[in-house]
Amino acid sequence: MNVYDTSFMIRELSRLNYEETTILENSDLVIVNTCTIRDKAEQKAFSFLGRLSRMKKKKPELIIGVGGCVAQQEGKKVLKRAPLVDIVFGTHAVGRLSKLVQQFEFTRRPIVDVKMATEIIENQFEEENIPIEGFTEEAVTGFVTIMRGCDNYCTYCVVPYVRGRETSRRPENIVSEIKSLVKKGLREVTLLGQNVNSYGLKGGKCSFPELLQKINNIDGLQRIRFATSHPKDLSDELIFALRDLEKLCNHMHLPVQSGSNNILEKMNRKYSRELYLKKVDKLRTACPDIAITTDIITGFPGETESDFQQTLDLIKTVEFDSLFGFIYSDRPNAIATDFSDKISEKEKKNRLNQILDLQKKYSKKKNMAMIGKTELILVEGLSKMQKKGDMRNGSKDFQWSGRTSTNKIVNFVMEECSSCNNNIKGKMVEVIIEKAFSHSLWGKTKENENLYHCVKGEKDNAA
Ligand code: SAH
Ligand code: SF4
Repeated sequence: MNVYDTSFMIRELSRLNYEETTILENSDLVIVNTCTIRDKAEQKAFSFLGRLSRMKKKKPELIIGVGGCVAQQEGKKVLKRAPLVDIVFGTHAVGRLSKLVQQFEFTRRPIVDVKMATEIIENQFEEENIPIEGFTEEAVTGFVTIMRGCDNYCTYCVVPYVRGRETSRRPENIVSEIKSLVKKGLREVTLLGQNVNSYGLKGGKCSFPELLQKINNIDGLQRIRFATSHPKDLSDELIFALRDLEKLCNHMHLPVQSGSNNILEKMNRKYSRELYLKKVDKLRTACPDIAITTDIITGFPGETESDFQQTLDLIKTVEFDSLFGFIYSDRPNAIATDFSDKISEKEKKNRLNQILDLQKKYSKKKNMAMIGKTELILVEGLSKMQKKGDMRNGSKDFQWSGRTSTNKIVNFVMEECSSCNNNIKGKMVEVIIEKAFSHSLWGKTKENENLYHCVKGEKDNAA
């Protein structure tokens, strides 16, 4: 979500003729877009601000802005902890960023704008006609936010306090933004929301599956992904959409957080272990090869050894394709911060390592099962190894990287092609999987596939 918000900020600032740079020392203005979901993220933000302050001592004209959830949470306090910061703007002030920067350029006095909208508004992103031209990156894959905020109040979570109430964007605005990005080369979109399953329910817009249908109809777009689905709201309609819409990828990120009913209740997740497992079954019945991934928190207050064992057991039962594990941390305003029975840091870490070790086995198993299969890959660009110039065996073949529909990274080689210079970024290519690692796969393009990128690839692009 922060990646999307950052791209929005870049577009906003293009109104003032600011341009993105990759060289920090060259910049006239630095915006730090912060995250506060866990304590560590917040600490990282302040340590980076320390580095910027040292830069500013040598270059006093540098403007430093702090946006995102730490800005929203801390407001004026950011200026106390990092006195050389010039602009603090909250999560609802992003649409006012160019005005704030202009005001600072004029007055050179610190500005704090953390006003939050108190009612459901068509958020500030909609009506202001943001210049898409300011979006310079010509990426094959990208994010588009379809809703903001959250009304679920999971007891560990800071999001409702820093992002505000749940609001869905209008479907026509989402569709038109994606169409503009497709014109600039986007082939795969990931739709973002804290709980996409409740998209449109407030305010009488269309439902999430209906929105997916509209996006599925966009010419030139090849793939659609989304995150995140709250298990309590995963509907049959969405499961049927996953089965039936050809552009919708075969992957569901379904955060379970814990395998113990006792902990799920204390987390206020509003589903049981049994309901979660039932939804996983339904998904696999409708889409047998679907990849299912999850988030798990270890060491939530009061989590006993027996609760934790139930989480390990759930991982064994579901056999996730991969998971993100997090050590529980107290967050400002979150209800669980006041819970007693906190678990020691050492035990939280120990439990995290246990779930990661267990999961490694299943990730490898799922990846191994793909060896020998032919997969359709959307090519995102040269592989990291190729970029570093580290070519295997001194070969002149090109190494590319992309993902399967199930979101697995595949690196593959393709012989040099004199007709098209191997310009396959953004194209769909069939790859035979030859090797499996824990986090990626390795393969080669199918025989005679050299023709694919010159002939079929061009046809795809023209479509
Ligand atoms: N809206 C999404 C989650 C967004 S936050 C959902 O409900 O699934 C991403 C992940 O961060 C969560 O799934 C959770 O696993 C983790 N997380 C959130 N708050 C946390 C906290 N206080 N400590 C540790 N992990 C946390
Ligand atoms: Fe946080 Fe729960 Fe909302 Fe996700 S659904 S953002 S975990 S409150």
